[in-house]
Amino acid sequence: MRYNFAMPIYEYACHDCKRRVSLLWRSFADAQEREAVCPRCGGTNLTRLMSRVAVVRSESSRLDSASDDFSPDGMPDIDENDPKALARFMRKMADETGEDLGDDFEEVVGRLEAGEDPESIEQSMPEFGSSPSSDDFGVM
Ligand SMILES: [Zn+2]
Repeated sequence: MRYNFAMPIYEYACHDCKRRVSLLWRSFADAQEREAVCPRCGGTNLTRLMSRVAVVRSESSRLDSASDDFSPDGMPDIDENDPKALARFMRKMADETGEDLGDDFEEVVGRLEAGEDPESIEQSMPEFGSSPSSDDFGVM
């Protein structure tokens, strides 16, 4: 059972086409281990600039176990019925990146911490979790 609540988005500078591009990774492990490929020119000469976090709809609404172990792809199991647990996870990710993830992120986490349902937050913020405004955006 997988719970893909959050997937990392990293911005890169491509040294081949001289553009800033964004890549959405399926997991943090992928982002660490796999080589980034420019969605614009296909080059691999990329320098990571910053990271963001995308909230995506979970693949399942059923909680399989109470385990908080990390699944093989590096994503933790999170009870999506517990918005506060999700908020803690997002805060932890934000701490690890050490970067300002923006007003949208703060608003979403704040609403989660207040116990609001993630799905209703997502529906009320159609921009959040969708493609960033960067020129070129790819999914790895
Ligand atoms: Zn490029």
